[in-house]
Amino acid sequence: MNGRLTRIKALGLPIHTRFTKPFGDCTMGVVEPCQARQIEIVEVGPRDGLQNESVILSTGQKIDFITRAIDAGIKRLEVASFVNPKLVPQMADAEAVIAALPQHKDVHYIGLVLNKRGALRALETAVHELGIVCTASDGFGQRNQGQNAGELLTMATDVMHLCQQEGRVAQVTIATAFGCPFDGEVDPDSVVAMACTLAEHQPKEIALADTIGCAAPGQVAALVSRVAQAIAPIPVRVHFHNTRNTGLANVWAAIQSGAVSIDASFGGLGGCPFAPRATGNVPTEDVVYMLERSGYSTGLDLDRIITAVNWLGDVMGRGLPGMVSKVGAFPCNNAEQSS
Ligand code: ZN
Repeated sequence: MNGRLTRIKALGLPIHTRFTKPFGDCTMGVVEPCQARQIEIVEVGPRDGLQNESVILSTGQKIDFITRAIDAGIKRLEVASFVNPKLVPQMADAEAVIAALPQHKDVHYIGLVLNKRGALRALETAVHELGIVCTASDGFGQRNQGQNAGELLTMATDVMHLCQQEGRVAQVTIATAFGCPFDGEVDPDSVVAMACTLAEHQPKEIALADTIGCAAPGQVAALVSRVAQAIAPIPVRVHFHNTRNTGLANVWAAIQSGAVSIDASFGGLGGCPFAPRATGNVPTEDVVYMLERSGYSTGLDLDRIITAVNWLGDVMGRGLPGMVSKVGAFPCNNAEQSS
């Protein structure tokens, strides 16, 4: 066994993690990313971000937000959820948003569905992809979707079949994969088993969601590597909220462990109306800065994202929690950097 592989094993990382030497050899246990490895950023601000904000954007403002994200290079966006408008009035215009979306052949739009009724609504629109939510814990499942984990697994497989019959792309997110606000710890074995069952029905991808922002990087590395190996070649996406300030560290742990797509929202907008005290998603600009400066490629224009985040803060009437938008990228041209 060569020295590099020995170090990978010593770090407890999955063997499929790719290592190269863009900046020199791997020393002191530091994991180096593969040079220019592509990481996809899925912008979820127009759905997850907006659904927990008291300011309700007009359909036109949502389209403006989405257009700015596309101008910054985003190719895949969650743009609406097909939920009860009485419970989530921020998403009441889902059909109108999808009808007004700018059309680009390389941009894909996702509509979130929590049940078959939502899926039938989504299939009536031209949305490219249905994002089905399947919850790992009974407590959150009952409150968010009125069903326990087992019933939601059946729902998710039924909706995947429906999408396949209709020729529509389906992917599944496992909510509360790292912890539940009502049940507490979630058994990782049950998450892996749920992912394996879902994978048998060939979703485009499976996402692991830290719905309430309780995950920590060691837990993320362990669960993402297990799921990635269990469902390969189906890709793993991850979804983190920054409730306890571990969001960026969790993103890093996830991509080192096999995740290839990251959900993020401009400015760190976001939350969940059914998850008490959940805060925003990881901020898109902070994730892009971290990844690009570490040798990964996201294909995104950080300056354009920052401009859009500043616009979004004005629209929402409050400062957004993302950090990079406050100070800008580094190195920058008109540089004054605080010490
Ligand atoms: Zn979320």
